[in-house]
Amino acid sequence: MKSARPDYYQALGVERGADAGEIKAAYRRLAFAHHPDRNPGDAGAEEKFKEVSVAYAVLGDEDKREKYDRFGSLAGDLPLGADADLRTVLDFFDAVFGDLFGTARKRPAGQDLRYTLELSFAELALGCEKEITFTRSGDCARCRGTGAEGGAAGLAPCPRCAGQGTLKQKAGIFTARRECPTCNGVGQVARESCPACAGAGLTDVERRFTVRIPAGSQQGKSQRVPGEGAPSRPGGIAGDLHVIVRVQPDPIYKQEGDVLICELPLSLSELALGVEVDIPLLDACVRMKIPAGTQPGSMFRVRGKGLPLPGGRGDAHVRVRVEVPSEVSPAASALLSQLEQVLGEDAYPERKAFRARATAIADGSRTTSDGSRATSHGSRATSDGSRTTSDG
Ligand SMILES: [Zn+2]
Ligand SMILES: [Zn+2]
Repeated sequence: MKSARPDYYQALGVERGADAGEIKAAYRRLAFAHHPDRNPGDAGAEEKFKEVSVAYAVLGDEDKREKYDRFGSLAGDLPLGADADLRTVLDFFDAVFGDLFGTARKRPAGQDLRYTLELSFAELALGCEKEITFTRSGDCARCRGTGAEGGAAGLAPCPRCAGQGTLKQKAGIFTARRECPTCNGVGQVARESCPACAGAGLTDVERRFTVRIPAGSQQGKSQRVPGEGAPSRPGGIAGDLHVIVRVQPDPIYKQEGDVLICELPLSLSELALGVEVDIPLLDACVRMKIPAGTQPGSMFRVRGKGLPLPGGRGDAHVRVRVEVPSEVSPAASALLSQLEQVLGEDAYPERKAFRARATAIADGSRTTSDGSRATSHGSRATSDGSRTTSDG
């Protein structure tokens, strides 16, 4: 000790009138913060850890605290001497709190559970209610979670701790109480184990919940349902259930900023001739006229049929794309070739301009590049292919 009359209250940062709970809480906080396992090689932390442990060894004991209050010191009667070695201090800590930093004993807290809820694009955008069903461990119905045949009536005081839930333990020169390992601190044990759960008090139970997803929810967000995770035995706090929302990829809807994009696939002839189509927009179907000669990439705006926004529904953008047949029968192929001929070069002014540019460059570079085809990123451009079609 630094002085002949150490101030244990000051060491723990508590008032002189603090009750036993406050004193223990203060010791817990300080001892954990300065625990050597958390501060390896830190001599200052070790010193502080010893100091608060010595203080708690006095103030945590009713008799010793009273004596200390009256005389201001315990003189030679210190439960943990100023020169106590670290091992003794650690033993004291473990006796007070249990072997929290080791593996020997730790009451498991209820684990959090995770549930992934898959939603469609529209369900996530508009909000929905979904019933989810899952299995987790819960109180055994037969013994009502007691683990004893006959329920609470089948429990008897724990013989090891005489129903106290804690055991007096001698660690070095002092004694402390620690949780009884036979009854896990409950103070009661089963006269006869419940056969349904083999005395564990837990069985698998099916849980059913309705989860409400508000409109405009974000994918990947999770909702916490407190206490619906795995329970902790005995009497501890159950974990939480986390419902994580995932949206399935949608073939026609995309979200860009606040705007709902709906991809509209049309055939070449529909784009060329114009067409009237029904557009599904989340929860509404809108009839839309696509004028003749519409180019792919064109966007049509539909007011108020998009995503729910704070001020009401936003706009939807219908984006036109062309769908090209991936398989063509010989008869269709002949017709398409014929169509190409009938339409002729002039039906495609952009294509015509593009090819003219290519021809101009090819003609200019031909003398130096020895007739080899222009290459782009190392791959051969198929000028042969374009030649056949433009020739036709
Ligand atoms: Zn049971
Ligand atoms: Zn016990």
